[in-house]
Amino acid sequence: MSYLYDLWDDFISLLFPRLCYACGKNLLRNEDLICTECYVLIPRTNYHNERDNPVEQLFWGRCRIEKAAAFSFYNRGSRLRTLIHNLKYKGIKDIGFKLGEIYGSSLSSSGFTSDIDLIVPVPLHPSKQRMRGFNQSEIISQGISVSAGIPVDISSLSRKNISSTQTKKSRYERWTNVEGIFCINDEANIINKHILLVDDVITTGSTVEACVAELNSVEGVRVSVAAIGVAVL
Ligand SMILES: [Zn+2]
Repeated sequence: MSYLYDLWDDFISLLFPRLCYACGKNLLRNEDLICTECYVLIPRTNYHNERDNPVEQLFWGRCRIEKAAAFSFYNRGSRLRTLIHNLKYKGIKDIGFKLGEIYGSSLSSSGFTSDIDLIVPVPLHPSKQRMRGFNQSEIISQGISVSAGIPVDISSLSRKNISSTQTKKSRYERWTNVEGIFCINDEANIINKHILLVDDVITTGSTVEACVAELNSVEGVRVSVAAIGVAVL
């Protein structure tokens, strides 16, 4: 019977090929979303094992964080960039969960998350979330949560005003554009907690900086940061 099943499976995959979301090649039967080659070849920063790493340095003099890390590099033409595009613009949410799971297990086994109480995703503006149907940072957070065994809190931090599209603005303009756009809904939920703030990709760091400033306004809160990609500026 299993032979017949395999034959049927092969027939179906001829009609509806399952493709790797990073390189576009056919997936093998035991592969899911990302082929083994891409899984191995996506470069890891290993910043979670390195104090004063470039992601931490990005926030020096800007806001108070405990530690920061990113899973991989977000470059033009990189496999990670293709994955993130498939997640955000094609709505393949499973990619976000899988990347979160993969990164969460590295963060957990290295001890990076050992004293983290809560995972808080960077909130999307409500209208953007309605258009996209989901917040990619929240999906990534759910993957990290499963691997690291830490709960996700999506209600304590939210986004208030609309900020116009950030892509063509200078760092200063982006900073002034995001300052004060986040707010805390319920201080009691996060008081004295060590929070892991999760973003999909860190570019200038201004969005994360604005979130950290808001979270740090609550008594006893400490914030660490994890992203799936960091843009090499
Ligand atoms: Zn691939």
